[in-house]
Amino acid sequence: MPIKVEDYYAPATFQKMKAFADQHETPFVVIDTATIDKAYDDLRAGFDFAKVYYAVKANPAVEIIELLKDKGSNFDIASIYELERVMGCGVGPERISYGNTIKKAKDIRLFFEKGVRMFATDSEADLRNIAKAAPGSKIYVRILTEGSTTADWPLSRKFGCQTDMAMDLLILARQLGLVPYGVSFHVGSQQRDISVWDAAIAKVKVIFERLKEEDGIELKMINMGGGFPANYITRTNSLETYAEEIIRFLKDDFGDDLPEIILEPGRSLISNAGILVSEVVLVARKSRTAVERWVYTDVGLFSGLIETMGEAIKFPIYTEKKGEMEEVVIAGPTCDSADIMYENYKYGLPLNLASGDRLYWLSTGAYTTSYSAVEFNGFPPLKAYYL
Ligand SMILES: *Cc1c(COP(=O)(O)O)cnc(C)c1O
Repeated sequence: MPIKVEDYYAPATFQKMKAFADQHETPFVVIDTATIDKAYDDLRAGFDFAKVYYAVKANPAVEIIELLKDKGSNFDIASIYELERVMGCGVGPERISYGNTIKKAKDIRLFFEKGVRMFATDSEADLRNIAKAAPGSKIYVRILTEGSTTADWPLSRKFGCQTDMAMDLLILARQLGLVPYGVSFHVGSQQRDISVWDAAIAKVKVIFERLKEEDGIELKMINMGGGFPANYITRTNSLETYAEEIIRFLKDDFGDDLPEIILEPGRSLISNAGILVSEVVLVARKSRTAVERWVYTDVGLFSGLIETMGEAIKFPIYTEKKGEMEEVVIAGPTCDSADIMYENYKYGLPLNLASGDRLYWLSTGAYTTSYSAVEFNGFPPLKAYYL
């Protein structure tokens, strides 16, 4: 089925982005910051009691950090480099959380010296490093969650620990002079099954209760991570539905007296603001009689489309060419056979598609520029323009 732009962008927004795109040579991403502004407001409207910590890795552009800073957002940071970027934009350390559970002791110290006082952990070794390098800081422990089969880009297996270990770590945190502050989870990015939040919140509830009853530790915060949806080909519920349901889960377990709630959106805030504009390099067949056409474009896995790996994220692809459609394989421009975006999932593109025609990859504002290689095959990193 042909992709309809109206399903993804307001007509005026698309026209503005397209007019800009027409003036520039491919490939590049064009990002409409007004769309991010609105996505932030929509998230705040859905969860008016929650604090937002933008997951900077989704798109670390200064334009986005400054916009979100001015809107009152906080920031979830994973490295000293992101820290430098965000503080360089004038964000104070009280608005920053070091959310990566995998960190060097010397990096923890640098965060502490810069004034950051909130740290995620999921292991004893890391917790002991935090106690030494960032004494007295607030600690939240990340737990493992289910949901990896319904998330298009799972994030849980590598991070988090079992409930029992989470409790051990929070007790140890107190012994080490830290503040056992809360529990975090991430149900997987682009999580299409809302009920996995229910299971995760129930686990958190157990930890809150047991620590209070058995150890006199009163936790204060739940960090519910990201996982909220962007618009791709595989449709999801609306953000409002996510908010309604998740709030219901929270109230079922915690009543009206909710702890501090933190959200760490990345994808849902940024993706829909971007369009990756590319050009067809070649259309080819592998034999005289092959029915299958290969469409090679000037972007690929190494220039921003790594989330097509395993065909995990199915970006909507729009072309202005009309006419009879045929299934194609879509691949990038580099000399690596991993550089094939879609082969099993059959995209239909018009038969008259030819070299030089543009393909518009919709909903590509997040996890594209930040993933792009620096010079594989000499191709430069993906360019980005912010309107
Ligand atoms: C990547 C990441 C996020 C953002 O997740 P999205 O699904 O893109 O919203 C949030 N929190 C943590 C800890 C992350 O690593």
